[in-house]
Amino acid sequence: MTLARNYDALFIDGRWIKPSSSETIKVISPGTEAVIGSVPAASTEDVDRAVGAARTAFENGPWPTMAPMERAEILRRVRDAIAERREDFATLITDEMGSPITQSRAIQVGTPLALLDSYLELIETFPFRDIRTTSSGSALVTREPVGVVAAVVPWNVPLTVAIQKVAPALLTGCTVVLKPATETPLTAFALAQLFQEAGLPQGVLNVVPASREVSEYLVSHPGVDKLTFTGSTAVGRRLASICGQNLTRVTLELGGKSAAVILDDADMDATVESLRLASLRNSGQICSLKTRLLISNRRHDEFIDRLRGLVESMPVGDPHDPSVQIGPMATARQRDVVQGYIQAGKSEGATLAIGGGHPTQEHGWFADPTVFTDVKPDMKIALEEIFGPVLSVLRYDDEDMAINLANHSPYGLNGAVFTSDLDHGLAVAGRIRTGTVEINGSSAGFHAPVGGFKDSGIGREAGQEGLEAYVEPKSYGLPHDFAAGLGQANKAHADSF
Ligand code: NAD
Repeated sequence: MTLARNYDALFIDGRWIKPSSSETIKVISPGTEAVIGSVPAASTEDVDRAVGAARTAFENGPWPTMAPMERAEILRRVRDAIAERREDFATLITDEMGSPITQSRAIQVGTPLALLDSYLELIETFPFRDIRTTSSGSALVTREPVGVVAAVVPWNVPLTVAIQKVAPALLTGCTVVLKPATETPLTAFALAQLFQEAGLPQGVLNVVPASREVSEYLVSHPGVDKLTFTGSTAVGRRLASICGQNLTRVTLELGGKSAAVILDDADMDATVESLRLASLRNSGQICSLKTRLLISNRRHDEFIDRLRGLVESMPVGDPHDPSVQIGPMATARQRDVVQGYIQAGKSEGATLAIGGGHPTQEHGWFADPTVFTDVKPDMKIALEEIFGPVLSVLRYDDEDMAINLANHSPYGLNGAVFTSDLDHGLAVAGRIRTGTVEINGSSAGFHAPVGGFKDSGIGREAGQEGLEAYVEPKSYGLPHDFAAGLGQANKAHADSF
């Protein structure tokens, strides 16, 4: 059975309810340009209902006061239901946003499952309370859910980012209003359906696809305690300024323009092969991709030859074809943005080494995989996030110059170092100002925090830090002898989780 494509109701207060307006959002498949589904567009009135339901579920319970392991049990059911429908979700996401099907199975469905597993493991030992005693006093410190969370998510990895936010928020006892991207609402509704079937109490999760204006209304809503946003830096800035008015807490996961520093002693074959995913997965539409490739003059030509071989080995086309590695851009607008950057690279004087043409597919919003060399650090294609299969190669003379180039960016999300000397690689990575640095293509995994320095965001997701983002620490001052007794009780309480 396939997942639903057409909805005439919004998921609010644990039910599918009639929207207050007749406005709809059509979902268009980027590979075929055909309409594949539709959902209601939420109005401000619907947002009021969604926030009201989340507020009531938070204030009246039982969700925030349930034992963490009871909450986890419901998320575990959702995890298992996604695993059972793995292929349905992969197909839906390929239809909805054009991710090549083999990557949909891995990064669009495998990744959120792994993330859920990680959060479910971490919640078992999350310190919801601890006792601290010093000569100046004794305290019980608790971590209480922050409240009603507005989660605003992008279209590029719709299930991953929804889980990235909904799972830690729910596990810590918050209630959520999820606002999916208008391009990918079907995945969010399918997820809501699984939460409903898993027995999530009424109002704990609400899903409202909406226009920009209505989404801003959600973010500025006085009933929202926290915004967790993933998307572009421009929108993140705007939403953070709105949050400033109400002192709404924020976590922002924003754009990136990450650099791969390829040192002279790197294994060139292994390095280039790892760029297949590290630089070009999801057709270049992932925030953490290494889109600035830094190579010394000494190994430049050899690198470009290998890179040409890599790009030629990545077929472009119908994302449902399992041999395809580069699919369409998720929107016509995104395709135009990418074409604009290819034009900018040519007119700024970078050397077009690979691609740069117009794709030949009859239907779909395709962009030609493209590599520019001789890119200068202040060119647009070196500084700005393109979000498509376009890579910029910059040359360096020595290691200091490579590190300066890596840090010459308004962004600070991710980075990579390739070398055969791991100690030296770690020292170079230590000088790169980004939230994550991968050595020889190794992932840090989901127990490690993810997030950005500089314009790439505020706060962290994943790992224990990802759970901490949804709690408010609270301190109770206590007499010493009472605190000592509680310390024992606390241990027993923790053991009972
Ligand atoms: P976007 O900023 O245009 O939109 C993101 C979300 O915000 C969508 O739900 C959109 O509908 C909503 N939105 C847009 N304008 C809004 C407004 N004025 N008020 C309220 N909501 C608004 O981003 P996108 O094009 O959907 O996604 C691509 C961007 O996301 C890239 O910049 C990418 O780097 C970033 N991203 C970052 C991460 C990360 O973890 N750092 C992960 C994935 C994507």
